[in-house]
Amino acid sequence: MLEKIYNDPEIGEIKLVRSAGLRRMSIKVHPLKGVRINVPWLVPYGVAISFLMSKKDWVISTIERQRQKYGAVKAMTPSEIEAMRAEAKRVLPGRLALLAERYGFTYGRVTIRHNSSNWGSCSGRGNISLNLNLVRLPRVLCDYVLLHELCHLRHHDHGPAFHLLLEHVCTDHILRLSDSGDEEAASFAREAAMSKSRYPLDRVMTSAIKKYPLV
Ligand SMILES: [Zn+2]
Repeated sequence: MLEKIYNDPEIGEIKLVRSAGLRRMSIKVHPLKGVRINVPWLVPYGVAISFLMSKKDWVISTIERQRQKYGAVKAMTPSEIEAMRAEAKRVLPGRLALLAERYGFTYGRVTIRHNSSNWGSCSGRGNISLNLNLVRLPRVLCDYVLLHELCHLRHHDHGPAFHLLLEHVCTDHILRLSDSGDEEAASFAREAAMSKSRYPLDRVMTSAIKKYPLV
């Protein structure tokens, strides 16, 4: 892989990346990693820049949209990540154990991971892996992800049986949280009550979580 940086007065820094096996040029705009053009080996950089210029309006409006959606998100430093990992190890296993016991789930191992693709996962063997980013979420949303993974212990897909179980467990949980004074939980419960979706809590919580980028 070969990288070159190009600076555009309006867009800012653009990474031009050549790597083997690329057939087509493409532009990626990422809220943390910035703008990147994938350039096939035989295409001169000048051609890649002209390609970018032809899509400039799109690039600028995409950056603008991502800024509005995510706020000013900055990349975390390694020491910030380590602090988050320590916090995740301190908080998440206990929280998962509490929810599992309350709702009658049994799981194997729990691992804390750091990746930018998913909040959590549950293996076929019943091991649960949790993203350390979960500690950045409000409690009600973090619990929602934990309950989602716990429900996968019984249903390994996202079919109707899975969703009914998750909705059932979440309804009980969100009411407990709001009864104990959790304002955010109370407002999600109200929003879900007005939703016409088949799985209202899932709908409301999932779209709230999407506002938090994984860093
Ligand atoms: Zn799932």
